[in-house]
Amino acid sequence: FQPERRNSRGWDLQDVTTLAQIDADRAPLGKLTVAPILADDQTGDRAETRTSHDNLNPATGAKIGTTQMASTRDAERALAAARPWDAPVATRAEVLNRAADLYEAHYGEAFALLATEAGKTLADAVAELREAVDFLRYYAARAAQEDAPARGIFTCISPWNFPLAIFTGQIAAALATGNAVLAKPAETTPAIAAWAVRHLLAAGVPATALQLLPGEGRVIGTALTSDPRVAGVAFTGSTATARRIQAAMAKGCAPGTPLIAETGGLNAMIVDSTALPEQAIRDIVASAFQSAGQRCSALRCLYVQEDIAKPFLRLLTGAMDELALGNPWDIATDVGPIITAQAANEITAHVEAAAAEGRLIHRLTAPQDGSFVAPALIRVAGIGDLGREVFGPVLHVATYRAADLDRVIADVNATGYGLTFGLHSRIDDRVQQVAEAVHAGNIYANRNQIGAIVGSQPFGGEGLSGTGPKAGGPTYLARFTRRAAPEPQA
Ligand code: GLU
Repeated sequence: FQPERRNSRGWDLQDVTTLAQIDADRAPLGKLTVAPILADDQTGDRAETRTSHDNLNPATGAKIGTTQMASTRDAERALAAARPWDAPVATRAEVLNRAADLYEAHYGEAFALLATEAGKTLADAVAELREAVDFLRYYAARAAQEDAPARGIFTCISPWNFPLAIFTGQIAAALATGNAVLAKPAETTPAIAAWAVRHLLAAGVPATALQLLPGEGRVIGTALTSDPRVAGVAFTGSTATARRIQAAMAKGCAPGTPLIAETGGLNAMIVDSTALPEQAIRDIVASAFQSAGQRCSALRCLYVQEDIAKPFLRLLTGAMDELALGNPWDIATDVGPIITAQAANEITAHVEAAAAEGRLIHRLTAPQDGSFVAPALIRVAGIGDLGREVFGPVLHVATYRAADLDRVIADVNATGYGLTFGLHSRIDDRVQQVAEAVHAGNIYANRNQIGAIVGSQPFGGEGLSGTGPKAGGPTYLARFTRRAAPEPQA
């Protein structure tokens, strides 16, 4: 024990040194390599059968490492080696809590990977690590309370926008309930996934209960969702991909195999004339632009009551002007990059198309290098104009007349999505009435509509936004066990 190397919480300062090094030379992760982590991994000859993929830093475009993509042969090996985790539930809970301790102890590495691989700002990286730890501890505690037989092998497919928190949450739920996990991280964020798996294994999860298969959705994702040995799939990502997974499962898995999907959103917020402007503005900026709008919970369409619209939008554009765009590693940065150059180009094209139609209300300036998109405000008549989820820092704004509130709610419900919804109003009856009428999984009144907290704000949508049960809530684990009723046949 070297007290001088530990901070007041007892964390090893080695990790902080990692942070400092990354700041100094900006490309220390250049040689990072990620490979599948398999239970029967004894042979060294597999690299030749795998394609490799460059792992890029979205803020700079620089290569941070290389990933060996799992092949269908790897999928077969993983399926053959997978064994449900038959330790007593108390042991599983203890191991997951130990993994949470390891995540916390190595926070410096996590922040470095989240910033350089996923483009997370430091504030987002802190929140993400905390959420991952919360998932581990929450599901460990829930499982210990309600032990039920595991289903078997679970495939967990997670998104790049929460490459640690959602990756960990799915796995923790499946492991807490005794399943074997085959984890397929997003193509752009395999390194933070490998970091998480290493800590879970070090904490005591058996190698046969947790294997990592980084790779392409169409190859490895399909192989891991169309096999009769798979007893369940947890997926977070786009609605279109969820549909492909459902089709693959219908072909290959046993009837009734559950798909637990969290998908897209077309999320609205209504601000009426009684709202407290200072508070509403702050919450709108966070909901629309934090994480560069790359959250499925993010605000996409703001409805402002006509009577206050003019001064309100002036306040909003003024608040936007205060946002700092740039390297996510800089402590001052509010808005980091978009995950890939291609995604950034698509979002920019959407903004340009609106600008060409004279609907651009306001736009900031983006840094030249890296895949940045400048936060923008676009005028629309209503949410029906959006058509699809634009996954970036673009906020569409409509005005409405007080007498038309019911029509606005009908339009929001008519999108078919139902993930988050926000309302700013100081009339309690109206808050109550709107919350009852809107079809959305998470409804937030007089606050921002992102950043659901594990345990106190279970997160998940309805309709095109997901199947439920809500993640981080008391009903989530049952679906990973045999106690839950099987999924209805499509
Ligand atoms: N749980 C996150 C939130 O409340 C969103 C998750 C997602 O984007 O997939 O902001």
